[in-house]
Amino acid sequence: MSLDQPIEDLERRCPRLGSSISFQYCLISGEDDFVCWKILDCWWETFDVERYLKKNMPEAEFNHLMATADKPKNKISSIIEIIEKAKKGR
Ligand code: SF4
Repeated sequence: MSLDQPIEDLERRCPRLGSSISFQYCLISGEDDFVCWKILDCWWETFDVERYLKKNMPEAEFNHLMATADKPKNKISSIIEIIEKAKKGR
């Protein structure tokens, strides 16, 4: 995929803040200026964010992110998860 602007300048609506933010913000908006835990889920449809992070983060930090991040879910998985939560809520 080719992008006609620097990746750090890409913008999207942030589901946490409810406003438009740049990818640059996502890189530092986690705890202790770490990347946001939703970064994979928020950006995977726009570009190969996992590859970008693997290339640009220290290996230990990248591995920590992969172990703790909110990963993209497909619609079927999300629906099944909602049904399971509803069943438990009864
Ligand atoms: S990665 Fe975090 S800061 Fe960036 S848009 Fe998603 S929720 Fe907002």
